Amino acid sequence: MFEYIDDCPGDNVIYAQNGLYIPDATDCMRCGLCISVCPTYKLFQIEAESPRSRVRAIDKIINETAAVSNEELTHLNNCTQCRACETVCPSQMEYGQLYDLARGKIMQAKSSERRGNLLAILGFKLIEHKALLYAVTVLIWLYQKTGLQFLLRKSGLLRLLKLDNSELLIPQADVSNLAERYPTDKEHRGNVALFTGCISEHFDRKTLMASIKSLNGIGFDVLVPKDQTCCGAIHQHQGRTAVADQMAAFNTGLFNLLDVEAIIYTASGCGLMLNEYGQRDAGSGLKGFSKRLFDITEFLNLHWPDDISFKDHHANAIKVAVHEPCSQRNMSPVSGSRHQHAYALLEKIPGITAIPLPENQFCCGAGGVHMLTHPEIAEPLRNAKLAHFEQTQADFLVSTNIGCALHLNIGLARNKVVHPVVLLAELLF
Ligand code: SF4
Ligand code: SF4
Repeated sequence: MFEYIDDCPGDNVIYAQNGLYIPDATDCMRCGLCISVCPTYKLFQIEAESPRSRVRAIDKIINETAAVSNEELTHLNNCTQCRACETVCPSQMEYGQLYDLARGKIMQAKSSERRGNLLAILGFKLIEHKALLYAVTVLIWLYQKTGLQFLLRKSGLLRLLKLDNSELLIPQADVSNLAERYPTDKEHRGNVALFTGCISEHFDRKTLMASIKSLNGIGFDVLVPKDQTCCGAIHQHQGRTAVADQMAAFNTGLFNLLDVEAIIYTASGCGLMLNEYGQRDAGSGLKGFSKRLFDITEFLNLHWPDDISFKDHHANAIKVAVHEPCSQRNMSPVSGSRHQHAYALLEKIPGITAIPLPENQFCCGAGGVHMLTHPEIAEPLRNAKLAHFEQTQADFLVSTNIGCALHLNIGLARNKVVHPVVLLAELLF
């Protein structure tokens, strides 16, 4: 996918084949502007946890300029991949791309049996195989429904096995399957397809149903292709790019066959990956796929009818604090300003006051699987967010990213973290 162009200025300047310029890791001027937005630097206050130190380690890995130490690798792995450093870097360092490239090289260097612990390997396999994932979903559903969850939590065994915090993150499972088409009963304005990815169908059903209800409510039929697969983001960011490529090609082939005006996603993390499909291979039709992509909040805002009538509205005022996921705030140009659509959508609900959660520029620590692999980093970052939520005295904390929502749904925010479209569907339709 990447090639080195020898006759370009600078050593080993990297270009993707579609022409996108990715500054070489050696382009870092070490100005330190990135330090001010880096969550791990904020937490540890040491240079080794700064983006510029990581860029130096990445440089060693990609350009093989020097051996990288285990300590440097540990600090590199501590990165939440929030990409806030990209937003302030005067060298326009494409940190995310460089990080993925470095992870890919690390993975290539490892023998297959050393590519992660058993749990991580199992997680990757579940995401890759929908039937397997569904079987585990049924087991989780049984665990939650039969009282086993209650017993295990009470027994203290989870705490003993150090699984108590991870177990708390598991949302309520829904084992029923979605229909393949949800027709509108309003005047028909068009057809859209819903991207559900890997876990949303069974673990974030509320957001998907709220999206379908809202889209139906403004006149769109919603198609849900049942064979769709994971967007590939988790594999991509762990250096498993070959599998991520396969997922991108599969989803593109499937969705490109549909006669729809838009492909809509509800999780901003998946959205970022889907939007970046176009950068993977210029010749395969991936670009056409990305052009039809919309975040649910963006699509509803763009197609909101002036003359829509809603159910009787409640009289109570509701205050919501808006958590802006890194996958929307920091990942330009494709989704850099998309977090604004959440505010615009919430403003359509009479009685709602939407305010930004303080310090939205810092990552909450969820970072895909980072919250599971690095709880010592993810938990203090989350605690800072929860303290800000308490300070706002808001009734709800809204987030357009399922990973962040699961991570934040704890303590005083328990059962108060929702996707904005859930509030919209409950209060307006
Ligand atoms: S802001 Fe960019 S150029 Fe400056 S130290 Fe950070 S990565 Fe390097
Ligand atoms: S991606 Fe986020 S955590 Fe990683 S170096 Fe950049 S700012 Fe720090």
